[in-house]
Amino acid sequence: MTIGKLYFGKDAIQYGLELCLARAGRQAYRVTEATARAVDVLLVSMFWYLDVYAYERFKRRAGLVKGKPPIVIAGGMQATITPALISKMVDFVFLGDADDALGTILHAIEHGQCPEHPGLWDGEGEPPAPHGCEPSGFAVQTQGDDGGTTRIEIARGCKFKCAFCVLSGLKPYREVSTDAVIEQLRAAPPGRVSAFAPERTCHSGWPKIAEEMQRLGLHDLSQDVRLENMLKLLGTSATIGIEGPSERLRKAIGKRFSDQFILDRLGEFVTSKKRVCMIAAYFIADLPSETNEDWEALRLLFEKMEAAEWSRWLVFKPVLNPLSPKPYTRLADATVHPFRDYETPWLNLLRKDGGQWGFRIVESLVWGPWRRMLDLLVHRGGAEAYGIIHKLPDALLGSMPKKTRRMAMARQLLDECSKHGLAEDRLLGGSTPTPALQT
Ligand code: SF4
Repeated sequence: MTIGKLYFGKDAIQYGLELCLARAGRQAYRVTEATARAVDVLLVSMFWYLDVYAYERFKRRAGLVKGKPPIVIAGGMQATITPALISKMVDFVFLGDADDALGTILHAIEHGQCPEHPGLWDGEGEPPAPHGCEPSGFAVQTQGDDGGTTRIEIARGCKFKCAFCVLSGLKPYREVSTDAVIEQLRAAPPGRVSAFAPERTCHSGWPKIAEEMQRLGLHDLSQDVRLENMLKLLGTSATIGIEGPSERLRKAIGKRFSDQFILDRLGEFVTSKKRVCMIAAYFIADLPSETNEDWEALRLLFEKMEAAEWSRWLVFKPVLNPLSPKPYTRLADATVHPFRDYETPWLNLLRKDGGQWGFRIVESLVWGPWRRMLDLLVHRGGAEAYGIIHKLPDALLGSMPKKTRRMAMARQLLDECSKHGLAEDRLLGGSTPTPALQT
């Protein structure tokens, strides 16, 4: 039996899929549009909402038809949280962790049987609950001109319960044992390593893991960390989630960071490194009950950072993502405003309204209405969304419309959704789009 694998994005290797294949003792070949129909089973990994559009494009070009060979099985985070939509595109959806399941499924197919597993769904009836399994020590080596990186999962799920985050809502927190992680580190070739988890510094063996990476001379590539754990990072770069622009909104979503706490932790980190530090900080726009006062609070935070001596050694990259309400989260039904202009006030803030902050800023753009509508269609459209996605022109599946057209196209997409029975209230959460914010 020939097994094909398909995933999207820049990575040459998809960790979760490689883990499942290794546990199943199987090998799969990466397919192209020209070769996809030549395999018996095609495993498709879908990580985020854009993968749904990428797969639709691939499917058309490859001539894949649901119900005809090859048997297509989709898995991954996006397949798990939006199975009804994805079941319209593939033969089976696997919900949850397939590490201990893929072997059984492939064995059944190979022996001419219909595969069965509690996490596997053929689109009939209600989808099952996501299957969970304990993570285990496993490493993959990515190749590249830069020498490649060894990736090792150290935990899945998260001990924290941030209201917007599907990583904690979907599965319980589970760790790979410290000994198993260290065994993988010792087997890794010299160079770069990424020991990853939703919040890796909370691993009960993190001090030992970090110490072992240092002892082995491995360069720790991961820089995601919770604000309160920044000092546990080995390098001078960090990526943190501040999320709410104000204390009030942070409290509402379960990230109770006061302004002073943020200033103290950033200052501590930069001062301890005694070198220029790069900190990327993620913020969320369009949180429920957001007002202009919340954005004013963020401006005040920037002013306090500017006043602090340590910020002279800071390169700050604030990133703003409008809320993407995900199933399995407390904000799944939040009202959203995809037509609000967040980019203009955001760039004004980063540029200090034509002035310059006393610390270096790296600018980032903000997802606009077109991307937000694509996101909402996937997360809130259910099975009916496929009636619309299936009709989108090829050009819109693979690339963005021109910037000047995006607002009009997003509105057109919303109209199309209404015509297909996906009411505006269902996609936007009962909202009426409001004018641009002024900050
Ligand atoms: S946002 Fe981070 S800390 Fe919060 S639940 Fe998600 S992974 Fe955990």
